[in-house]
Amino acid sequence: MTHSSDLDGFRRDARAWLEANCPPEMRQPASGEADTCWGGRRFVFRSAAQRLWLERMAGRGWTVPTWPTAYRGGGLGKAEAAVLREELRTLGCRSPLDSFGIWMLGPALLKYGSQEQKLEHLPRIARGEIRWCQGYSEPNAGSDLASLATRAEVHADHFIVNGQKIWTSYGDEADWIFCLVRTDTARKHAGISFLLFDMTTPGVTTRPILLISGKSPFCETFLDNVRVPRRNLVGELNGGWTIAKYLLTHERATIGGDMGSGAAAAPLGELAARAVGCDAQGRLQEPVLRSRVARFEIDETAFAAWLERTRDRARQGEGHPAVSSALKFYGAELNKRRFELMMAAHGAESLEWQGARSDDGALARSWLRSKGNSIEGGTSEVMLNVVAKRILELPGD
Ligand SMILES: Cc1cc2nc3c(=O)[nH]c(=O)nc-3n(C[C@H](O)[C@H](O)[C@H](O)COP(=O)(O)OP(=O)(O)OC[C@H]3O[C@@H](n4cnc5c(N)ncnc54)[C@H](O)[C@@H]3O)c2cc1C
Repeated sequence: MTHSSDLDGFRRDARAWLEANCPPEMRQPASGEADTCWGGRRFVFRSAAQRLWLERMAGRGWTVPTWPTAYRGGGLGKAEAAVLREELRTLGCRSPLDSFGIWMLGPALLKYGSQEQKLEHLPRIARGEIRWCQGYSEPNAGSDLASLATRAEVHADHFIVNGQKIWTSYGDEADWIFCLVRTDTARKHAGISFLLFDMTTPGVTTRPILLISGKSPFCETFLDNVRVPRRNLVGELNGGWTIAKYLLTHERATIGGDMGSGAAAAPLGELAARAVGCDAQGRLQEPVLRSRVARFEIDETAFAAWLERTRDRARQGEGHPAVSSALKFYGAELNKRRFELMMAAHGAESLEWQGARSDDGALARSWLRSKGNSIEGGTSEVMLNVVAKRILELPGD
């Protein structure tokens, strides 16, 4: 337990360090996904400031504040980590590193990985050296993920993997993949294993899928006789489903929390004021828009309070595993509303698709991208099923 006087001291030190070390450019909201630091072998930094911010935060262990220092984390307790989050928000500092390794694989490895796996992978995630992608979904296994059919033949010291994954976000840019494979065809959930492998392994190919937004944020991933060393199996053979589910709770809580709190964006009221202007009393010019933005900001504030309460309860060991599904559901709804309102604030101009003025339709493309929020990481219908069954304890099948 950290005493409040210690926490006050930590807050002062953290603030002073952030003020001294966060480059001014990194204290502006990111302009969009292209302005985000994803790290990895092939990542091209957008600016010297972006690189410096990652290096400084990684050097301090603050890309992963609560991970143990042995794995290049910050070794902070949950209360200190909450203070750090508040200070980062207050100073308007950007996330130094967005990463599936941090949000998803890292927590799973901390709980289920061997010591060798932790030492091999966690420091490289913390420093942003390796970019990970997620090989879960398949053409016939999405919501019913345990139907997955990608086969891994088990040999003495390796696996041979054959099959296809789909919707692999950034599969063509990632260095490594965490992948669910079938190692027993007779049992559904109890026949799945959790493997890690390098995307440059012979037999791995990716094909980008072009979306309505004009971008290809994800791929089909083909696995053709891919040889994976046995030491890259996480947990027990056929024990991957437990790890997969644990990882999903982190994925859902992250997606819900980030989207719902608009972590990367400037406040909606400010954006709307810039677009439509304010009246003499400093209120948004347009009364209908003003009321919609106000209602949104109230809901966003309530969501932030709920998120903090959820974190507090988790800190006290009282977290409910299914709450991540509720957060994911509502966070997705809020983010979609945020983009609808931004489009409304910018009027017809928001539909511009090309040209410097609109940064090549950045807003319109992000708005279209937000539609996927209620699908990625588990669809809204499935999240509501989980809430109904596991939180409300309603009768189910
Ligand atoms: C932006 C984005 C990024 C993604 N990134 C990745 C990634 O990196 N890696 C990865 O592995 N996957 C990724 N996915 C895939 C995602 O996890 C799946 O799309 C999702 O799990 C749904 O599966 P599906 O597309 O097969 O739809 P289906 O499961 O076929 O669902 C179709 C429809 O049926 C509904 N439905 C299905 N089952 C039920 C039920 N029991 N009750 C009520 N309704 C139901 C669904 O809600 C949906 O409306 C991504 C998806 C998106 C949109």
